[in-house]
Amino acid sequence: MNQTYDVIVVGLGAMGSAALYQLAKRGMHVLGIDQYEPPHTLGSTHGETRITRQANGEGAAYTPLALRSYELWREEEAITKQELLTITGGLIVEDRDGAAFHGQSGFVERTAKVASEYNIAHQVLDATGIHAHSPLLKLKGNEIGYYEPNAGLLRPERIVQTQIALARALGAQVHTNECVTHVDVSGAGQATVVTAQGRYKAAKVVLAAGPWIGDLLGSALARNFAVYRQVIYWFKADEIERFQQGHFPFLIWIAKKQEEFLSIFTVLNDSQPAVKLLTEEYVADTTPQTVNRAVAQAEISHMYNHFLANRVDGLRNECVQSAVCLYTNTADEHFVIDFHPQHPEIIVASPCSGHGFKHSAAIGEVIAQLATDGESQFDLSQFRFARLHQGQTHQKSEGKLEEKP
Ligand SMILES: Cc1cc2nc3c(=O)[nH]c(=O)nc-3n(C[C@H](O)[C@H](O)[C@H](O)COP(=O)(O)OP(=O)(O)OC[C@H]3O[C@@H](n4cnc5c(N)ncnc54)[C@H](O)[C@@H]3O)c2cc1C
Repeated sequence: MNQTYDVIVVGLGAMGSAALYQLAKRGMHVLGIDQYEPPHTLGSTHGETRITRQANGEGAAYTPLALRSYELWREEEAITKQELLTITGGLIVEDRDGAAFHGQSGFVERTAKVASEYNIAHQVLDATGIHAHSPLLKLKGNEIGYYEPNAGLLRPERIVQTQIALARALGAQVHTNECVTHVDVSGAGQATVVTAQGRYKAAKVVLAAGPWIGDLLGSALARNFAVYRQVIYWFKADEIERFQQGHFPFLIWIAKKQEEFLSIFTVLNDSQPAVKLLTEEYVADTTPQTVNRAVAQAEISHMYNHFLANRVDGLRNECVQSAVCLYTNTADEHFVIDFHPQHPEIIVASPCSGHGFKHSAAIGEVIAQLATDGESQFDLSQFRFARLHQGQTHQKSEGKLEEKP
C-alpha cells in the first residue's frame, strides 16, 4: 500500500508530537508514526515533570526557543483548557568552581548574563539569598545562586498527548504501534518510510526518534549520539508542604564534580505527595533495547546516603517510586536540528542531550518551517551536523563507577 503525504514524522515524543501539530496547523497533509502508544515510559519523555527556564546559560540559540515555547504552550492551554506549564520559580545553585553543566562552565554567571540581555526577571544570590529561597538546603556558605521567578515545570506526558490530539483534530493521521524499519531515499525529491504494515511516501521525513535515532540514521551519523541511563527517584518528605509550589522553587544544584549534580522538583498541587529528584550519570552508554530498566535497592540507598542526607533537610530515607529514563547526548551537548547531510528529504530533530523538553514546542515550529520553507526564523547554526566531529561522542564522567554501590 503506497500513500503519499507532504511530511511524515517518525516518532511522536516531545519533538515529534510538537512537529506534527505545527505541520498540521500549517495545513500540511501529515502522517505521524510511533512504534508505541505515546506518551509512554520507554524513551525520554516521562516522569511527571520537566524543568523550564526562560534564560538559558547553555548558549545563545536557546533562550529564543525557550521563550517561544512558553508562548506556544500557553496557546495550547487556551485551546484545551488544561494546565501544561506551572510557574514555580527556579533556583540554580553553583558551588564555588562548580563543574560544567550541559557542557558550559560558569553556568550561573552565564545564565544571569542572558537574563539581563533578554530582560528576564531574575536575582543573583549569595548563600544568604539562596537560603532565603530554599531554607531546606544545607549550604557550605560559598555558593552562588540564580533565581528566576517565572521559571516552572512542564507536564511532559500531558503535552505529548495534547499535541497529538490537536494535530489529529487538524487532520493529521497518526499510526501508533507501528515501527519504522527504514527510510528509503532512492526516489528523487521524495522519501519512502517503510514499516511492517506499509510504505508511505513524502516530500519530507522528520526523524524525531529520541534515543532510537541511531537505528534510523546509519552508523556514520549514529556515532554522534550516545545514550545514557538516568534514574528518577521520588522520596517521602517529613512535611510535603515545604516542597510544594508556593514554598519551594525547583532546584538545579551544580556541584564541584559533575557526578554530584542534583536536581529537586517542586511538588505540584496535583502530583503525588513525594519529592522528585535526579542526578546525571554518564558512566557507560547504552541503548533503548538493552538498558537496565530496573532500579536496584543499592542505587536508591546510594541516592539517599550520598546525595540527600548531607545536602537537603526534610527528606525521609523512603523512596516511593523510581523510573529509568534516557538521555541522548552529542559530544558538545548541543542539539542536532538539521537536514540530513546527504539527503535533504530528511530532517533530523535530535533527542536534545537531556535539556530539550523546554524547547520542544518551538522545535516543532522550527521543523515545520524547515519542512515547508527550507529554513527557519530561528538561528540553528549551533545545531548543525557539520559542527560535530564524526565519531566523537559525549565525554563520560571519570570515577563515578567506583563510587557506586
Ligand atoms: C530523566 C530526564 C530528565 C529530564 N529533564 C529535563 C528537564 O527538566 N528539562 C528539559 O528541558 N529537558 C529534560 N530532559 C530532556 C527531555 O526530556 C528530552 O530532551 C526530550 O523529552 C526528548 O524527546 P524526544 O522526542 O527526542 O524523544 P522521545 O520522547 O523518547 O520520543 C521518541 C519517540 O520516537 C519513537 N520511535 C523511535 N524509533 C522509532 C521507529 N523506528 N519507528 C517509530 N517510532 C519510533 C519512540 O517510540 C518515541 O515515542 C530530561 C530527560 C530525562 C531522561
